[in-house]
Amino acid sequence: NRDIPLAALRGASKRYGALTALAGVDLEVRAGEVVAVLGANGAGKTTALGLLTGRIGPDAGQASLFGADPRDPAVRRGIGVMLQSAGLHDTVRVAEHVRLFSSYYPAPRPLDETLALAGLSELARRPYGALSGGQQRRVQFALAICGRPPLLFVDEPTVGLDVEARRAFWQVLRQLRDEGTAIVLTTHYLEEADALADRVVLMASGRVLAEDTPAGLKARAAGRRVLARTG
Ligand code: ATP
Repeated sequence: NRDIPLAALRGASKRYGALTALAGVDLEVRAGEVVAVLGANGAGKTTALGLLTGRIGPDAGQASLFGADPRDPAVRRGIGVMLQSAGLHDTVRVAEHVRLFSSYYPAPRPLDETLALAGLSELARRPYGALSGGQQRRVQFALAICGRPPLLFVDEPTVGLDVEARRAFWQVLRQLRDEGTAIVLTTHYLEEADALADRVVLMASGRVLAEDTPAGLKARAAGRRVLARTG
């Protein structure tokens, strides 16, 4: 059904003690689109992702996935999530991690294809613990995409990567988009949102300040002032 968004927040709020991490956020993701959630540290991006992916529940308002409750594990199985960190076993080889995760899905991507997309073909036999931080992030990415999810969430995937690695990763996300995958990514970088997104949701202090195409957002004077601070 094209009228139901793949994922949505409606007036969603989340507090941690006295701190309001998210204050009445509306957000929608539709089939096949790439949405960038752009903002500085503490803007609420990871919290918004946490609600959409069912890792946490809202204090007020609603989160939905495929029109259902993201906190339901059966609903969550339909998405891919690349977190900023994931607890994997140091002694288990890269290919074994990917093979195990792939086995949970009804129509997984062939192992070699997943490894190639994630840039892990040469590292397949290495134990996870022997990889660099950047390489471990590739494994987390591989686990997020191995099930061919129609909707993929990636949380600040290119932080700390050099320009070349960042560009290479963008190319992979474009390939997934071209396959029809809807993607939600959080980022600090306007350049990244511009390179990938159909729509940008600009956040600050737990609120949505603006929502527009990358070009539209750049054209807004007010947006520009805020963007200057998101670096
Ligand atoms: P970053 O770019 O640093 O990941 P962000 O935009 O993703 O920032 P969030 O991680 O969503 O922001 O955090 C929003 C606010 O909520 C921040 O002030 C953060 O310190 C606070 N916060 C997030 N998670 C928790 C938690 N589990 N307990 C307490 N405070 C939290």
